[in-house]
Amino acid sequence: MQASIYLDNNSTTPLDPEVLEEMLPYLTTAFGNPSSITHAFGKEAARGVAQSKIRLAELLGADPTEIIFTSGATEAINMAVKGVFYRYQGMGNHIITCKTEHKAMLDVCSYLQKKGADITYLNVDDNGAIELEDIKKAIKKETILVSLMLANNETGLIHPVKEIADLCAERGVLFFTDATQAIGKIEFSLRNTKVDLLCCSAHKFYGPKGAGALFIRKTKRPIQLEPMIHGGGQQNGIRGGTLNVPAITGMGKAALLCRQNIMEESVRLKGLRDHLEESLLRLEQTVVNGTGVHRLPHVSNIRFRFIRAEQIMAKIRSLAVSPGSACSSGSTDPSHVLMAIGLDKEDARASLRFSLGRFNTRAEVDEAIRLITHAVTVLRSESPAWTLYKDGVIS
Ligand SMILES: *Cc1c(COP(=O)(O)O)cnc(C)c1O
Repeated sequence: MQASIYLDNNSTTPLDPEVLEEMLPYLTTAFGNPSSITHAFGKEAARGVAQSKIRLAELLGADPTEIIFTSGATEAINMAVKGVFYRYQGMGNHIITCKTEHKAMLDVCSYLQKKGADITYLNVDDNGAIELEDIKKAIKKETILVSLMLANNETGLIHPVKEIADLCAERGVLFFTDATQAIGKIEFSLRNTKVDLLCCSAHKFYGPKGAGALFIRKTKRPIQLEPMIHGGGQQNGIRGGTLNVPAITGMGKAALLCRQNIMEESVRLKGLRDHLEESLLRLEQTVVNGTGVHRLPHVSNIRFRFIRAEQIMAKIRSLAVSPGSACSSGSTDPSHVLMAIGLDKEDARASLRFSLGRFNTRAEVDEAIRLITHAVTVLRSESPAWTLYKDGVIS
């Protein structure tokens, strides 16, 4: 492994050692199937799952009975959005979302379009914010669901989901929020909100990969989701299949640790993030993408104009950050989020996302600042675009 400074915590977080500790017995002695509660092995596993549900519910401000475990946020998004569409399409086929959502959400929407859904993708301003007025205008008779993320994974922008949920409730439209990046990072409670559905993922808050959850609000008229995974009748028939007990117990422990540390941790990380930003902005033509007050405390997306993010990353192999272009498919498509907030392709490709986490130290951040500053300075000295900019030919 070459990278030694990990500033890519929005992609995934390392497992907290205390979480691993919690999981180990469920990988060894407590291996029972939580559905087999006729014997002690099953009962022990079922107790682990139940405790985890309580811990997660406490973090979310929900009731344990409102939580369904999944394999992660992608599955929970599929379960929520397809589940609502297939169950309520008799009442309407219109879904409202926005252009800066995670690909998991956007891909589900384009799939549903082929199945007859009418999708509105709201525009955002140059910070990534949506106008509540635009949501109001977009709601029509056929609207069955509004889906907007709590915090953006690329820029950290936070949407006012409480207000959006109120607005949707007033109009009798279900509201789902992908809260994957916010849960465990900022104070947020479902209590006193009208959010109907919410998803999160353990590996984004120091838990293991392979565990996530969907919150489904218990109301007088329960929300009916068409199940996506049939078989076995687990989790009230909403999601079949034997539960991933070790990962689920890890998720519960991770939720507990977040609840205990959230205030202190978010203040510390904001301090480090602000230091990183102030230091890097000393470089010319360096701009934070998507500022504004409502932003995750540990995230910074910065464009270093006239060079490419990949060039910086190639120069600094010991630093793990994320470029403003999708390298997932082997191509370098500029980020759809950065394009939606008004960057041109070159500026999107010049952008790097820094996402700090629990185990980052001040010394690591200082080293990252030093490495980036050096790399950007060297790359620009070799960049024809930078020369043209300096000569006043381009701006
Ligand atoms: C990571 C992420 C997802 C996908 O989560 P998985 O658990 O990896 O499937 C969905 N939405 C957002 C905002 C994310 O950051």
